[in-house]
Amino acid sequence: MNRKCKVNFAVPALLAVLLAGCSAGGGAVHDPGVLAGAVGTPAAAPVLALPASVKVQEGVTATFLMPSATLAAGRSATWSISGTDAARFKIDAATGALSFRQAPDTARPADADAHNGYDLVVKASDGQRGTQAPLKVLVLPWNDGGAAGLPLPLVAREVARPAGTTGRPGLRVLDWAGFKAAVSYTFDDSQPSQIEHYPELKAQRVRVTYYINPAGNRYPNYDATWKDAVAQGSEIGNHTTHHCRAAELTDNDSNTCPAGLGSAGAEFDDTDNYIRTNIGQSAVWTMAYPFGDTDYKAAASRFLVARGVWPGMTAPGTASDALNLPITGFPGDPSTPGGDPVSTFNTAVDKALGRGRWMIYLFHTVLPAPTQNWGGGEDIGVITGNMVYAKSFGTMWIDSVVNIGAYWRGQQLLQAATPSTSGGVTTWRWTLPANFPAGRKLRVVVDGGALEQNGTPLSWDRHGYYEVSLDAQSLRWTR
Ligand SMILES: [Zn+2]
Repeated sequence: MNRKCKVNFAVPALLAVLLAGCSAGGGAVHDPGVLAGAVGTPAAAPVLALPASVKVQEGVTATFLMPSATLAAGRSATWSISGTDAARFKIDAATGALSFRQAPDTARPADADAHNGYDLVVKASDGQRGTQAPLKVLVLPWNDGGAAGLPLPLVAREVARPAGTTGRPGLRVLDWAGFKAAVSYTFDDSQPSQIEHYPELKAQRVRVTYYINPAGNRYPNYDATWKDAVAQGSEIGNHTTHHCRAAELTDNDSNTCPAGLGSAGAEFDDTDNYIRTNIGQSAVWTMAYPFGDTDYKAAASRFLVARGVWPGMTAPGTASDALNLPITGFPGDPSTPGGDPVSTFNTAVDKALGRGRWMIYLFHTVLPAPTQNWGGGEDIGVITGNMVYAKSFGTMWIDSVVNIGAYWRGQQLLQAATPSTSGGVTTWRWTLPANFPAGRKLRVVVDGGALEQNGTPLSWDRHGYYEVSLDAQSLRWTR
C-alpha cells in the first residue's frame, strides 16, 4: 500500500473505487502541488484507470489509448502528458485520446534510450487536483514473433472479460484475429525487380508472400533473397517451376512448354522441393496459379489455400473457395509508367476495412526496374506507401497468405465443430486438414466460465480475447 493511497482513506465512501484505482493504476500519484493549492471543500482527487504499459504495432498513427478518470461530482478532466518521451506523443486535453505525433518505426526508435519503449507520464486534472501515473508504450515490429507470429490489434480501451450470464459458452471466433480486415501482399514470378527492391520491402517488416518459379534461379541473389525473406517471417509460395499453362504440360508439343516436367503435380513437387531444400522453409502451404490457370487440379491435395487472379475480397468464416482466392489487382496501366497511384491502393484499404474483408494484392514487376521490366509494373514507393497507410490505422491485419489463410480456415473449423457437453464441461474437437501450418492460433471469446486446452487454462488478453492453439485440436469450456 503506498502512502498516497492511504491518504485517501479519510474519505470512506470512495474507499472501494480508490482502492481499485490504486491497484489498477500501478504507480498513480496524486499531484502534491495541486493538492496543496486546493482550499475549501476537500474534493477527491481524480482516480486514473491506466495500464502500466501498452503494446502497439509500429506505424500506427491512430489513437492507441483512451485512459479514463473518476472525478468528483460535477468536475471534468483535463488531460496532459509529461516525461522523457512526451514530445513524441499528443494527447487530447478533453478526451485523453493518446497517439503518436509521427508513426513509430522500430528500425529508427525515437525514444530516449532507443529501445522502442517510450516513457511518459499521463495526468488528469479536475482544475483543483491532479493525478498522474507513468505509462510505457512498447512498439512492436510487424514481423514480431517470426513466421507464425500474430500481431496485436489496436484496442484503445482494455476489453473486459465477458461475464457468465447465460450458462452457455457462446463461443465465437474473432474475425481476422481481432482486426477489422486483413491484407496480404503477394509478389509473383520471382521477378528480378522484386529481388532488386527487396531491401525496401524488407524495411517495412511486413510478412509478405513471394510466389516463385525456381526456373528463374539464374537471377542474381535469388536464393539469398528468399532465404532472408523466410528469416524475416515472410512466406515463399509455389508458382510452379516453369510457369506454363496446365494443358501445355501434357500436350506433347515441345513448342509450348519445352522444359515442363510433364504434369502439374511434378511442377508443384519440384518447386516445393526447391523451397524446402534451397531456401530452407520447413514446408510449403500455399500456391498461386500461373496465368491464374485453375486447371492445375493437383493443387487441391498439396496446398491449404491457392490464390487465383479473379477480382474480389474474401469474407471471414465463410467456406468460399480456398483453392481460388481472389485478388485486388491493378494491372498497371501502360500509359502511366509508374502504374497506379498510391491513392488507388489506399482506397482499396479503406474498402476492405469498411467491408471487413481479406484483400490480396498481386504485384509483378516492381518499378523502377533497370534490368528487366516485364510490364504491369508498380512503383516501389507506391507499394511501401500503401503498407505505411495500412499500418496507420492499427485495425488492418497485414500478413502472409499462409498466416491469414490458416486463421480463416481455422475459424471455419472451430465454428463447424459440434461441441459435446457433459457435467458442465463443453468440449470442441477438430482435425486440422492436410497442409496446415503448425503453431497457429485463433482468438476467441466466451460468455464467462473458463477455457482450457490440454489441461492448461487459457488467460484473457486485455485486447479482448483468449488465444486458442489450433494444434491442440480440442478446447474445453467449464461453466
Ligand atoms: Zn505468374
